[in-house]
Amino acid sequence: MGMSIRSGAQTNAWCDNWCPLSPISTFITPRTITNAGFNMYSSVADIVDDSGDWRWPEAWYDLFPVLINLQPPSVVHNVPDKPTWKDLDGKDSYFSSKEVWNNIRSRGATVSWFNMIWFSQCIPRHSFHLWLVIRNKLKTQDRLMTWEAGSETNLRLMCCPICRYDRDSRDHLFFQCSFASQVWNNVKTMVSLENVNDSWASVFAWMEQTASSKTSNVIVDKILIEATTYFIWQERNARLFSHIHNSAETVIKIIKNTVRLKLMGFKFRGSAARNRVLKAWNIYSNEEELDPG
Ligand SMILES: [Zn+2]
Repeated sequence: MGMSIRSGAQTNAWCDNWCPLSPISTFITPRTITNAGFNMYSSVADIVDDSGDWRWPEAWYDLFPVLINLQPPSVVHNVPDKPTWKDLDGKDSYFSSKEVWNNIRSRGATVSWFNMIWFSQCIPRHSFHLWLVIRNKLKTQDRLMTWEAGSETNLRLMCCPICRYDRDSRDHLFFQCSFASQVWNNVKTMVSLENVNDSWASVFAWMEQTASSKTSNVIVDKILIEATTYFIWQERNARLFSHIHNSAETVIKIIKNTVRLKLMGFKFRGSAARNRVLKAWNIYSNEEELDPG
């Protein structure tokens, strides 16, 4: 980070980065500075006189010959100095938090599943949840265990709260768990996901290969996958924390109703796609009600 000199008043002459020799305090000691009548708080304005020449003593040129080639900045009175920042390409640009964030954030390559999460028709809450699933950031017990495994660990809790059979983990819940598998195998018949089985690897492979497609079918598939992972996670938490048990049929119904509700507000591109989707989901538009034939 540096300073671009205007009035010179906001920039420390010795410590800030404002000229090719900065910071000057690396080669001129505080004692030399104070002996010359300056102090450690002197600004750039303090070391340039009214005719635009350096105020430092002639003797400094013998002591520090690098100063000979240093041109005094042209001072603009009453205009504050501007902080600058070297961007990724090494160019100086004016400092702004946006510019800095763009430079310091680590930029991953765009992930292959990007379109699975961020699409205009998504249900944001479900999208965010799926993002956590993909990153394997849900607080499943296999992940919690690595933090607080100890003598107190309750082994009974370490099994899946839904089936009480296997370990509670991302790959188990989506959708190897017998309950989740039952739900998934039911709801996926509503869409074109017959070839996706109940392993996370299979679901993820589909997302990588297909999620960028913008056809109505794929968009409905995505909404359904997001809703299914979301409501299975809800059921898992309900059982773990509230001791509420919904049947697979209830969860299936919740998922289908949620997707159906979403589709009712959809703007489809073509009437063929629209009719196909509406029919599959038992949604009747007003026109069809008026003209059932
Ligand atoms: Zn289970």
